[in-house]
Amino acid sequence: MKFFDLHCDTIGECCKNKTSLRKNDLHISLEKAKHFESYTQVFAIWIPDELRKEKAVSYFDEVCDYYYSELFANKDLITNKDSLKQEEKRIQSILAVEGGAALGGTIDGLYHLYDRGVRILTLTWNAPNEIASGAFADGGLTDFGKEVIRKCEKLKMVIDVSHLNRQSFYDVAKNTERPFIASHSNPDIVGTDSGRKRNLTDEQIEIIRSRGGLIGLNLYKEFLDVDNKTGLEAIKVHLDYLLQRNCEKIIAFGTDFDGCELSDGINGVETIEDIYNTLLKDGYKEELLNNLFYNNANLFFKKMIK
Ligand SMILES: [Zn+2]
Repeated sequence: MKFFDLHCDTIGECCKNKTSLRKNDLHISLEKAKHFESYTQVFAIWIPDELRKEKAVSYFDEVCDYYYSELFANKDLITNKDSLKQEEKRIQSILAVEGGAALGGTIDGLYHLYDRGVRILTLTWNAPNEIASGAFADGGLTDFGKEVIRKCEKLKMVIDVSHLNRQSFYDVAKNTERPFIASHSNPDIVGTDSGRKRNLTDEQIEIIRSRGGLIGLNLYKEFLDVDNKTGLEAIKVHLDYLLQRNCEKIIAFGTDFDGCELSDGINGVETIEDIYNTLLKDGYKEELLNNLFYNNANLFFKKMIK
């Protein structure tokens, strides 16, 4: 099978522990993903909310250096997908930043990220930054934030609204023309406080759908478990909810591997094929599953990044 994952925090964990991407004890290793027929992984460089300005920029550079050193060390298996002209390897990666504080508050900072290969920008993490406000804070898109998203669209850098609060989300929708993604957010149907803030309302889902964006299903326990259902059973509830809202062309996965406590029965990238096979056995059509697990995201990125 093929798999496309819109979000993981694995590279930051590798950098922190100086472990290899190839073989490790994390949710994702290249060894554990070797069986996929094709596999594209978005690696996000997560910027902690305590870091701002120069500290955020230098932290980004440190993890980014580690990302490229790991790509080089494992170039027999993986290639960075920032251009469609590149020869395709079985495992491809797209570089993202989770937390626009990595710009250091300047447009030059955005160009710096772009030069280093970043093709997806999650505008905030949970707190406010120079661009907008996260799900656990008040406030909307700033004037600087408006300039940033205009430039992102020009550069063909994909805007990611996961982690934004509602006001910032609507400000982004109003000030953009191209499709945008919620890389790791679920429908707003779970009971937890953090889940309610981080997941998407019906209206938000419809805006992303009508734009032709993507919604990546998050496997974090707190955002997924619903009505005493967990793991695969909870995935089905979220899937069905989105399918009832005509989202079959925009659903993908944004696992949040190595950035969260996973829902029961999900251990990491090695569980993905079991999830696919069980859904198939439970009556979900093969074509639909192929779209959800790979094609929707792959088509989107073929169109959206240079
Ligand atoms: Zn996140």
